[in-house]
Amino acid sequence: MRLEVNRRKFLRISAKTAAIAGLAGAARNPLEAFASETPVKVGDAASITSLITDYVAKAPTNSIRNAENEKAWDEPLVGFSRGDDPIYQFYKEDIGSFYWTPIEIFKLTFPEITAKSDELSIISWILPHTESIKADLRKQTKTPSEKWIRARTYGGQFIDELCRYVADTLIKSGYPAVAPSVSKSNQIATNGGKYGMASQWSERHAAYASGLGTFGLCDGLITPKGKAIRCASVVARINVPPTPRPYKDHHAYCLHYAKGICGMCITRCAGSAVSSSGHDKKACAAQCMTTNQYAEKQLGMPKGAYGCGFCQTGVPCESRIPV
Ligand code: SF4
Ligand code: SF4
Repeated sequence: MRLEVNRRKFLRISAKTAAIAGLAGAARNPLEAFASETPVKVGDAASITSLITDYVAKAPTNSIRNAENEKAWDEPLVGFSRGDDPIYQFYKEDIGSFYWTPIEIFKLTFPEITAKSDELSIISWILPHTESIKADLRKQTKTPSEKWIRARTYGGQFIDELCRYVADTLIKSGYPAVAPSVSKSNQIATNGGKYGMASQWSERHAAYASGLGTFGLCDGLITPKGKAIRCASVVARINVPPTPRPYKDHHAYCLHYAKGICGMCITRCAGSAVSSSGHDKKACAAQCMTTNQYAEKQLGMPKGAYGCGFCQTGVPCESRIPV
């Protein structure tokens, strides 16, 4: 019975997203096949990792919706951290009082549930761009490539869908869970604190805490699968052992900080937003906005679409840890 409920819900969610994607007809059989394989329950690191990995591999909505229906994302890496890890309190103190600790977003979502920080785990994952998408942008120097913009837009929608799916499956398995970035409490960005524009929850900071990578000169997260990635996370009342952090310094994987060399992201940046002093968020946002007209008018993308990411491709940290 439980399997049936999960399966129906999955099909409903996925059919909706597939219909939006214009994929409903083509996707029917793969979707049904995948839904029947979906685990009834998750409850440990291995089952949660499989849940995420399988969805990325098999969901037809993992697509940039071009004529070839290419995938937006390659195989993910999954890591875990504890809700009472002091690093989350450090983030809050460093970034600003608006920034959520795991227990804060959990309590906002589940005010009726009594929980303590040490009962929570953060499930974080990184999604690498495919070689085809990276190669498309690598060739460009000023105008972002179509595949990259498609991945940013439709791949971003897929990430939201995946976040909801992971949280939903955990809840059905008996573990209250919330994906902070798609939580109804989340506000897009806050302009305050010493770092200027900042979100209430940073996927990259959750990934750093969960052993998945360190920051580069341009603020991107350098991971074992490189920096041409996106991250996502879910906070859940579940006890999963944390992934060891194989670094001590938050810039350990960047050649500029570790060895005083490279700076390729400075050269690649299309908006003069990266220098040897770091990343200028305002200049970066301004550059990204300049791509919106191109994305909408030239490529026929939906309203608000944009892309940039030159600093993530054609650099030594694009697809690996370079140090
Ligand atoms: S391109 Fe070089 S300097 Fe920039 S983040 Fe990567 S390793 Fe660091
Ligand atoms: S996203 Fe674009 S503007 Fe921003 S730092 Fe990277 S290359 Fe520069």
